[in-house]
Amino acid sequence: MSDRYRDLTLSPVGRRVTKTLGLPRPAVLRRYTPGEPLLPGPALLASSGGALGEVLARTLDAAGVELHAADDGTREFAALVFDATGVESVADLAELHATLSPALRHLGPSGRLLVLSRPAGTATSAAVGAARQALDGLVRSLAKELRAGGTANLVTVEEGAEQALESTLRFFLSGRSAFVSGQVVAVTTADRDRAAAPEDWDRPLTGRVAVVTGAAQGIGAAIASCLSRDGAHVVCADLPAQGERLAGVANQVGGTALQVDITSDRAAQRISEHAVGRHGRLDIVVHNAGITRDRLFANMDDATWRSVLAVNLDAQLRINAGLLDEHILGADSRIIAASSTSGIAGNRGQANYAASKAGIIGMVRTSAPDLAGVGGTINAVAPGFIETEMTAAMPFAVREVARRINSLKQGGLPVDVAETICWLSQAASGGLNGQVVRVCGQNLVGA
Ligand code: NAD
Repeated sequence: MSDRYRDLTLSPVGRRVTKTLGLPRPAVLRRYTPGEPLLPGPALLASSGGALGEVLARTLDAAGVELHAADDGTREFAALVFDATGVESVADLAELHATLSPALRHLGPSGRLLVLSRPAGTATSAAVGAARQALDGLVRSLAKELRAGGTANLVTVEEGAEQALESTLRFFLSGRSAFVSGQVVAVTTADRDRAAAPEDWDRPLTGRVAVVTGAAQGIGAAIASCLSRDGAHVVCADLPAQGERLAGVANQVGGTALQVDITSDRAAQRISEHAVGRHGRLDIVVHNAGITRDRLFANMDDATWRSVLAVNLDAQLRINAGLLDEHILGADSRIIAASSTSGIAGNRGQANYAASKAGIIGMVRTSAPDLAGVGGTINAVAPGFIETEMTAAMPFAVREVARRINSLKQGGLPVDVAETICWLSQAASGGLNGQVVRVCGQNLVGA
């Protein structure tokens, strides 16, 4: 649904009124269009003795980014990329501050701040661990300070995982990550040999077969469309009752429709028979289908509790187990499951939903080694407030508050969740496993 308040703030009168009254002014976010340059302007590539300078310069240069090594104060940057892998002390943090602080003033609209560091967990002394972890607080704070649709994210890069970095670098700099801010993502060596770059970064899923559950509407339909745009053949799955809408989405994305209730005992078999039987393979499984049945826990009957856990969690566990047992998922396979910020923070009246979505996070973390064992990965996305039929049904005041309590002061779009899933679906994203990426504009809930 449309965000009337945001539309108002974009008019000359609205701009004046909101500025005078100090009201939130949501920016128009830069979103991805195929074929456009990775960045709409130059990038500053800075470092404090980091180890990634060469790989970053080479990758960004190949991606057509105009790179500058210093900020002379004469130009606006579309991105600031800071290689903080050399940050190992409080003194190093001061050096980073000296470079970044003035440069931030020259970051343009929908600008990107991307900081790369080594994981704090691999530090061999308290001083090094502290300095690395300090970057976490720093980046999350800067994400809250940036204006005009700017985002800030931290990527930790394990030693040896440099070659698995490119898809993540491209995601965070591009318009694909418009609603992802204040996140910490770890690129590891778990699957580095398989993080092969696609021939065309605008069609990174060419030749891959994906299944999306709950594809008949909302976020699922956007995921199907995005995967298809990126080159995948998409099997759109949803309940038989959604048959007509499902067929419409499948036609629109040039995919096929599969009517299946994911809670049925044969769901995994139906999915694999359809994907492998008709399209020869299954590379990407997106567990998007989900339901809410809100009620205070004290008043929640058994059926209400069970139905939400059955669709949102148990079905996914059983489908994954079925596909792994039958060896349907192999090298470069990707599972991405929809969690929620409610699963991270909890939500009044949503104990069943929050339990199921937190369960997804547990599933993803625990299954990561199993997927790595077959050369694949499993990750989750946790959307915050997304403009869908579900959120349109919220009472006005609750919806208005939920929309504004994030750093970007607006709701995300289904495409923002879809873009994040497409990034995690790429064969080149093999260095990301067992992670949860929030697509919430840095929502205060669960921050
Ligand atoms: P939606 O209700 O619009 O769509 C969900 C789809 O899942 C529907 O098409 C429905 O028919 C399908 N589905 C339900 N039960 C099924 C079953 N047993 N088998 C097969 N399909 C089934 O939801 P949405 O807003 O698009 O959300 C999609 C996912 O994102 C959900 O998992 C939701 O929990 C999660 N999420 C949404 C938001 C948001 O703001 N909309 C926020 C956080 C998380």
